[in-house]
Amino acid sequence: MKSVFSVILSIIVIAGCGSSTMDNKGDKMNRENTKETAFEVNKTEEEWRETLTLEQFYILREKGTERAFTGKYYDNKKKGLYICAGCENELFHSAEKFDSGTGWPSYWDTVSENSVITKPDNSLFMRRTEVVCARCGGHLGHVFEDGPKPTGLRYCINSAALKFEENKEKP
Ligand SMILES: [Zn+2]
Repeated sequence: MKSVFSVILSIIVIAGCGSSTMDNKGDKMNRENTKETAFEVNKTEEEWRETLTLEQFYILREKGTERAFTGKYYDNKKKGLYICAGCENELFHSAEKFDSGTGWPSYWDTVSENSVITKPDNSLFMRRTEVVCARCGGHLGHVFEDGPKPTGLRYCINSAALKFEENKEKP
């Protein structure tokens, strides 16, 4: 009788663990959702998959990095505006673009204070500063402090996170 009781007890404990794991997952998802809704443009993963190409999704939503010297814009010297491939937020202009030699489009400034936000990124055993679109939260690249004057910044951005509007002036 005692052993039957302990079996029942273990089942309750196991079931208890199961449900608490689910609760944790639920909490985590809620937190992530809260974070996402902080951005003006807020879509589910499924909606992003429908609107972005595979490459854009990999960069913007999965924080991927395109291989150096393979992107569309690292060597683009045309005059124009670079907007977010996810939400068309105005990000960078050719006036602040420079050839960093890294194989990624590089800029020493954004077009406005509302273009991007930065976050600490300690992944891959490196201390870097991630750059995300201020409007949709999409991952754009990283910013480093070895850029040219006057800012001394180098925004190192994935081409796949950008769209280019040729001859468009700065907003
Ligand atoms: Zn965006």
